[in-house]
Amino acid sequence: MGAKDGGGTGGTLRERITQRLRSGPATAADLSRSVGLPERDVAAHLAHVARSARAQGERLEQVPARCVQCDFAFEKRERLTRPGACPRCKGRRIRRPRFWIAPAAMSKEDRT
Ligand SMILES: [Zn+2]
Repeated sequence: MGAKDGGGTGGTLRERITQRLRSGPATAADLSRSVGLPERDVAAHLAHVARSARAQGERLEQVPARCVQCDFAFEKRERLTRPGACPRCKGRRIRRPRFWIAPAAMSKEDRT
């Protein structure tokens, strides 16, 4: 692990977020719970987590929010919060966007 961010007892907040994301997909709500940070603050950290992941040859992957009923994907929505309702079927069961960290070698590297 790079020690550029320093490291206290149990690692910094970002390291904990990073480790959680390495263990598998998580929503902002999951991350909020596991590091004890408000969900909206998790968003700000994710940008930095994505950058340092790239520096270590990894990347932050994302699955967009999706409607449970008709599978509509909220591709353009980059916010972390869950949309209120589906524009296509008006369904209100929306799966939250999920994030995880994967080795960059396993995916395309030509995106920025
Ligand atoms: Zn729908």
